[in-house]
Amino acid sequence: MFRVIALGAPQHLVPYHAVASMTDLITNVSALTFDNRFVSDLPGDTETSERRRQVLGACWSAVAPTPVAAPHLMAYAHEVAVMVGFTEVDVASQQFADVFGGNALLPGMQPYAACYGGHQFGNWAGQLGDGRAMSLGEVVNARGERWELQLKGAGPTPYSRTADGRAVLRSSIREFLCSEAMYHLGVPTTRALSLVTTGEPVLRDMFYNGNARDEPGAIVCRVAPSFIRFGNFEILAARNDIALLTQFVDFTIARDFPHLTGTVSERRVAWFTAVCETTAVMIVHWMRVGFVHGVMNTDNMSILGLTIDYGPYGWLDNFDPTWTPNTTDASSRRYRFGQQPAVAQWNLMRLADALRPLFDSTAPLQDALARYHAVYTAQHDAMTATKFGFLASGDVEQTLIREAFTLLFDANVDYTLFFRALGEISDALPELSSTLLLLGDVFYDESALLAHGDALAEWMVRWHVHIVHGGEGFAARRARMHAVNPRYVLRNYLAQQAIDLATTGDASMVQTLLEVMRHPYEDQPQYAQFAAKRPEWAMNKAGCSMLSCSS
Ligand code: AMP
Ligand code: MG
Repeated sequence: MFRVIALGAPQHLVPYHAVASMTDLITNVSALTFDNRFVSDLPGDTETSERRRQVLGACWSAVAPTPVAAPHLMAYAHEVAVMVGFTEVDVASQQFADVFGGNALLPGMQPYAACYGGHQFGNWAGQLGDGRAMSLGEVVNARGERWELQLKGAGPTPYSRTADGRAVLRSSIREFLCSEAMYHLGVPTTRALSLVTTGEPVLRDMFYNGNARDEPGAIVCRVAPSFIRFGNFEILAARNDIALLTQFVDFTIARDFPHLTGTVSERRVAWFTAVCETTAVMIVHWMRVGFVHGVMNTDNMSILGLTIDYGPYGWLDNFDPTWTPNTTDASSRRYRFGQQPAVAQWNLMRLADALRPLFDSTAPLQDALARYHAVYTAQHDAMTATKFGFLASGDVEQTLIREAFTLLFDANVDYTLFFRALGEISDALPELSSTLLLLGDVFYDESALLAHGDALAEWMVRWHVHIVHGGEGFAARRARMHAVNPRYVLRNYLAQQAIDLATTGDASMVQTLLEVMRHPYEDQPQYAQFAAKRPEWAMNKAGCSMLSCSS
């Protein structure tokens, strides 16, 4: 039996040291061990009001969640709850919903909002910061792992600028489900513990076209070893606060990269190199599963190479490297699928710029950036070869791969379904005329199929000859391909269906999708419908093919 500290003062911020003196409640929520190094090791803002402001000489501001009317736990991720240290009894308690809806704190929590800046759509945007995210503290679990808990949508902070610090249900469901889907797909990502509805409306103009309306509000608690972003470093460099930048870099290395060894300067080089490498690995995974982040601003880039800040992201249905789900980015398509590797590199260059004052010369930074390119290229080639079932990635394979991607685009083929179907093709191939039937229902456009179907069938024959010649055998090949080619991804229209239902108070599809996405590489016959290509009706429906930053 442990204490929850109730937040009694609604509608304005209370610094956490004041919160600690508020009413204590006895609850059933398990004790967690907090070790809040971000706030204990780094300088904080001297002002504790919610006044929006530039925060200088500090990495964080003390904040408190603004209580909500009726916190209700709509969904939670069991594995994450266990990982953090909660039991089923904890999760079932009203106190759990109170804490993760922002109405109470657990003993040891010290809520803060981090100060960071960022390059948005290619331009330096100055101070951004956690405008609606609030870290509650860093849990050290029974296995000694550090997991930072962070609410998204728990009310205003000094970094909220003109906005309200809240999040709507649709975006919260998308973040909750996608974090977990990505994790189970094997993509480095922040996790999601809980999805709490607030019982309060949030006013949003979904497409910035003057049609603002009230939407249900919700709060996600996301979980990661660290929420530090490229922008945390950039803001300190932009302000020429080199002393604090140096302290912050060394803090990050000590807390988040404890395995790095050597002198201080050796560790800094190894650290930035590691950031370049893990970022490359993350992008390779995005390309593998067909994920488009949608807002790859430097404030949305994790120092641990985790996918972070699920906003107007999307999943490829038909293979189209020029596609972006983000309507805010519709004109320049800066963050389109095929551009992601180059944007990540550009973002790393902005981080390198920020770190420059800590290095004697640019050489180690250049070398690390070269590692990004090298790791990305090597891993991307290997990954793509495996998607096609190849055992090598030489000239023959690369040619077949290039041809295939052109055909997938021209023939308007579903990215996920194509690769899964390819993995099901045995060592015997039927006649050319029926080859395409092996792919199943993967085509979106009859005229594109008519124009390019023959070429695709002919490509499949050449692919098949090569693959059979490899001698691996069907069973082994199928297992290898299916391990990298998911059957289930969180298609935009599926998330939208779950949202539409949840908006009526029915969370069943959120729960079902969470369950399906826990095993994305397994055929789950009872959930076959969730593997289907995007239906016609979803083509131009809001939330299914286009999203805005408004959330
Ligand atoms: P994002 O596009 O979600 O990465 O957010 C960019 C910046 O805007 C960050 O500083 C966010 O904290 C801030 N922001 C986004 N939405 C809100 C909101 N509803 N209230 C306050 N700040 C927000
Ligand atoms: Mg962000």
